[in-house]
Amino acid sequence: MPKLVFHAKNPNYCPEDIPQIVSALQETGFLGEKWNSPDSVDGERYLIGDSFLSLVTFMGCAPAIELQPLAEQANSTEFCHIEFETVKDNVEFIRGAEHLVCRCPHCRQRHANWATIPASMTYHCDKCGVETHLSEYDWKNTAGCGRFFISLHGIYPQEAIPTSSLLQTFEKITGTDWDYFYVQ
Ligand SMILES: [Zn+2]
Repeated sequence: MPKLVFHAKNPNYCPEDIPQIVSALQETGFLGEKWNSPDSVDGERYLIGDSFLSLVTFMGCAPAIELQPLAEQANSTEFCHIEFETVKDNVEFIRGAEHLVCRCPHCRQRHANWATIPASMTYHCDKCGVETHLSEYDWKNTAGCGRFFISLHGIYPQEAIPTSSLLQTFEKITGTDWDYFYVQ
């Protein structure tokens, strides 16, 4: 199932208090109630809130997206909902698409050869010679680095775009800047 993933721009960011983030996002109407998901579904998942459709802009005129759990398929995760993923021990690079393209933050040169991601998570740009952490490259919403991810399940790449107001809300709640990418 595709998803839209939110992450702090600072890859080392770790939330101090996830329940506080949850309740603040519920107050803004992005998150709704906790989903009483069946045992086969892992992670902490929430239904969308009352203001969801004003915080996320859908690009199609009539998106065929399920916004509620499927009554006839209780185990299905194929509807639009939000997951707080477990905080990772180390910074991870999440590849959202097979073919990645990004730009060097120093010389803006395009790099497209990402069959493998360097374990060091830094890259020595062969155009300008500057070595930079991968989190500083502009991945055009196809990948991201971090330890803490909030996933919006059921969204295909470019199908929906978070409003700047939603990203500012994330920033206000956590005290750090946020970005997003899509996983196909
Ligand atoms: Zn460069």
